[in-house]
Amino acid sequence: MQATQVANNVYAVITPARDYPNPDNRGWNSNSAFIVAEEGVLLFDTGASREIGESIKKVIAGVSSKPVRWIVNSHGHGDHWLGNVAFKNTVESIYASEQVASAIVADGQAWVDRFNRMTDGVTGNTIVLPPNRLINEPTEIRLGNTRALLFLSGNSHSPGDLLLWLPEQKVLLTGDVVYSDRMPSTMNANVKQWINLLGELEAMQPKIIVPGHGKITDVAGIQRLRGLLQAFWIAVEKGYYEGKTDYEMAPEVLQALSPFKPDYPGLEEKVRRDISHVYLQVEAASFE
Ligand SMILES: [Zn+2]
Repeated sequence: MQATQVANNVYAVITPARDYPNPDNRGWNSNSAFIVAEEGVLLFDTGASREIGESIKKVIAGVSSKPVRWIVNSHGHGDHWLGNVAFKNTVESIYASEQVASAIVADGQAWVDRFNRMTDGVTGNTIVLPPNRLINEPTEIRLGNTRALLFLSGNSHSPGDLLLWLPEQKVLLTGDVVYSDRMPSTMNANVKQWINLLGELEAMQPKIIVPGHGKITDVAGIQRLRGLLQAFWIAVEKGYYEGKTDYEMAPEVLQALSPFKPDYPGLEEKVRRDISHVYLQVEAASFE
């Protein structure tokens, strides 16, 4: 694990893993980022276990002697917040949307158990440390001279996703709203809203994007993902209006998405799994 500097005082911690948490990757399959400010460090996403959180803490210590005082949990999936507990002694504020904070309180232990099953117990002694600062609207937080803007995704990738924008550095930390080179899951998504949001993110003209999964990217990464989700939606919509079931339309949907396959490993498996979900959204949209 290492820190990659992406802007002045901004660093990304990028996992090489492209698969689900498993014993080989020790659960470490998602990215984090941190901002070193005058009075301390803000950490955006803390990994999938106490152990991963501890490793991130060591990486940060290699860059700055300042404590992690602020954490942002981008969303409720366990790979992004189970590491919170590693920062228990120094953290003052753990930011999340209200939806995500209540989901973590309600389902936190289930995430610990699930990740233990997936990693054969490697993520072991993780304890749920839930968010304590709830964000319900765009909120600017001041880290000394650094301005950071937290804003909601409109439930695009999952209910209550939070993003962080550094307007001076033009750096965007997206959580799972952006995947750069792995097929995203649309299971908990509002796909139409996601497509709209990606258009808004593009208009912000970020120079650097740290995605929830995959390599560091830029506007091109947003455009590519937006194209993929749009193609997914259009292909399902076409099948829907032809009267096909989700099962019947799957081969054509996969055919329509084949140009994206080289850039998004795991595409076929996830599309097959998520197609019924997108189908229901297309159906709902047809009644609007
Ligand atoms: Zn994730």
